[in-house]
Amino acid sequence: MERLRARGEDSGRVTAGATGSDSGLDVMGALRRSHAAASITVASVGEEVVLAGWVQRRRDHGGVIFVDLRDRGGLVQIVFKPDTSPECHERASGLRAEYVILVRGRVQRRSDETVNPKLPTGEVEVLVDEVRVLNRATPPPFAIEDDPDVDESVRMRHRVHDLRRAPLQKALRLRHRLFQAVRASLSDQGFLEIETPMLTRSTPEGARDFLVPSRLQPGSFYALPQSPQIMKQLLMVAGFDRYFQIARCFRDEDQRADRQLEFTQVDLEMAFVGVEEVLACLEELTVRACAESAGIEFPRPFPRISYAEAMARFGSDRPDTRIQLELVDLTDAFERSDFRAFRGVVDSGGIVKCLPIHDAEALSRGQIDRLEAMVKKELGGKGLAWIRVDGNGDWQSPIAKFLSEAERGAIAKRCEARPGSLLFFQADDATRANAILSRLRVDLGRRLGRVDGRDHELLFVVDFPLFEAAEGGELTYVHQPFVAPHEEDLALLDSDPARVRGTHYDVVMDGVELGSGSLRNHRADVQRRIFDVMGYGRKQTEERFGFLLNALESGAPPHGGFAFGLDRWVMVLAGAESLREVIAFPKTQRGQDLLLEAPSEAEDLQLEELSLRVRRPAQ
Ligand code: ASP
Repeated sequence: MERLRARGEDSGRVTAGATGSDSGLDVMGALRRSHAAASITVASVGEEVVLAGWVQRRRDHGGVIFVDLRDRGGLVQIVFKPDTSPECHERASGLRAEYVILVRGRVQRRSDETVNPKLPTGEVEVLVDEVRVLNRATPPPFAIEDDPDVDESVRMRHRVHDLRRAPLQKALRLRHRLFQAVRASLSDQGFLEIETPMLTRSTPEGARDFLVPSRLQPGSFYALPQSPQIMKQLLMVAGFDRYFQIARCFRDEDQRADRQLEFTQVDLEMAFVGVEEVLACLEELTVRACAESAGIEFPRPFPRISYAEAMARFGSDRPDTRIQLELVDLTDAFERSDFRAFRGVVDSGGIVKCLPIHDAEALSRGQIDRLEAMVKKELGGKGLAWIRVDGNGDWQSPIAKFLSEAERGAIAKRCEARPGSLLFFQADDATRANAILSRLRVDLGRRLGRVDGRDHELLFVVDFPLFEAAEGGELTYVHQPFVAPHEEDLALLDSDPARVRGTHYDVVMDGVELGSGSLRNHRADVQRRIFDVMGYGRKQTEERFGFLLNALESGAPPHGGFAFGLDRWVMVLAGAESLREVIAFPKTQRGQDLLLEAPSEAEDLQLEELSLRVRRPAQ
C-alpha cells in the first residue's frame, strides 16, 4: 500500500514538541504526517508514526478507546489508553465521527483477539501519545461505509461525504491511473496533446447542443462541443499529424444509466493512416492503459466482428461474446406462414428471431411470465412467444399449435432444439426484436452462468452502415456525417446509399461500447455527396460546414481517429454499475447537480446583459 510520496512526507520522522492544542488556526503545530494509514503493516511495528485523517468510528472499551482513522488510502486502528497519555485519552473521549485529527504514536501488534483479517492493516494498531483535533465536524448524513443504506439522491446531495467512501475513493484513483496511462501511451506513440475550444459551434454527434449566449454578440450563441471532431480534423489539415486530448464533451440527451450530459473523452486523430494503423494504435493504447491502471492483461490482436455479424448473432452492436448464447434468424421460414402474428410482421418488413437456450429446465413458467412482463413494460415489446421442449421431446408452448410441420421443422433444425431447450421468439421490426433478444441473452446468459471463463474481453466491431433511416424516412448519419465510406461502396452513394458501409469501428469491452472512430472524408467532394444524401441543401451545407469544406480543399491528408468514453471505460474497469460511481461530481438522470443545485435560475441583471428574456414554464 501507499506511503506518502509528496514533498518529504515519507521521511517517517516526526517533529517533537507539539502541544496537542487545537485552538487557533495553526492547529498542526510542527507535527506533520509521516505515513498513510494503509501503509502501516507488521513491518512498521515499533516505529513512531504521525497520521492524519478522519474519525471513521470510535469505540470505548472499558477505559481503552479505539478509533478507526481513515485517510485517502484506507483505515488503521488507533488506540488511546488512560495510562499511556491521560491527556490524549481525555481528548479522545470527545472525538466524534468525521472529526479531522492528527496523531503521533507507536505501531504495535494487535492482541490476538482483536486481529481483523478483513482489514489490510488488521494485524496492527497505533498506540497514541499525542492527538490534535484539526477540525470538528457536524454529524454525517449517513455512515461513511461501502454500502450505505440511503437513497442515491441523498448521497448526491451530500456528495462530499459520499466521496469519502472507499468505493468512490478507489474509483477516482483508478480514473487517475487510467488518465496517466493514456497520456503516457499516446505521448509515446507520437501524439501531441492539444486543447480545442469549449465555446464553439455546433458539432453534430446526434444530440442536442448546449448553447451559451454571447453578451458581446447579442442574440448569438456559442455551442458547447458535443465532441472535438471538427477541430481535430482541422488540426490534421494543419499538419499536426497525431493529436489527442482528454476532452470534456456536452450532449443534451435524455439521461440513461450510462449517459451523462457532460462527459470525458480520450479523443485522438491521426493523419496518413488507414483503418489498420488506427486499430493498431488503439490496441496498443487500450492494452497498456488497462494493464497499468487496473492490472488487466489482454491478448492481441483483438477479435474483430462486423456490425452485420454482431447484429445477426447477438442482436447488438456491442456484444458480450463471453456469453455463450446466440440468436437464430427465422424470418424466411415465415414468409408464407399461416401464423398471422409472425407473417404480418414479415410482410411489413420486420423479422422473426429466436434465442434458443438449451438445458433450460431451471427456468420456471413463473420466470417466463415475469420475463414477458418485462419485455412488454420495459422494452416496448408486443410479447414473448416461447417453446419449451420437455423431457419426452414434446413441445409445450402457447404458439406451437399455430405452426405448420415445415415451420416446426425449420425451428427445430436451426435452433438445434432438444429436450430441455427453451426457445424465445421476437417478431417485430429489426431494431426492437434485436434489442429485446439481446437484452434477454445477456440477462439470462449471466443468470444461468452461460459465460466462458474470461473475466474481460476487448473486441473491435467494424463496418457499420454509414446511414440509417431517420423518422421522416430520409437517411441520416449513423454516427456523424464525417465518416468516410468504404472505397468499394463509393458508387452506392448515388444508387443505394442505405447499403453503403462506413469505415467506422467501435471498441467494445465486456458488452459496453468504450468508444468509436472512423476514417474521415478528406476529400471535399465526397463529403459534399454525403451531405447531399442526407438532404442538406447546398446553402445549409455551406453555412454550417463551409469552413470545414474549405479546409479539406486546402490540402487535407487522409486521416482517421477515435474517441473513448473515458467515464465508461473507468466504469467497466471498476466493475461499477453507473457512471455516477466513477465521476467526482456527476449529474442525476434529470441533469441536476444536487449538491450545487444546478441548473439554477439566472438573475434579471444577467439576463439583461445577455439580451435574454425567459418565458417561465406555466406552474
Ligand atoms: N467524434 C466521435 C464521437 O464523439 C469519435 C470519433 O469518430 O473520433 O463519437
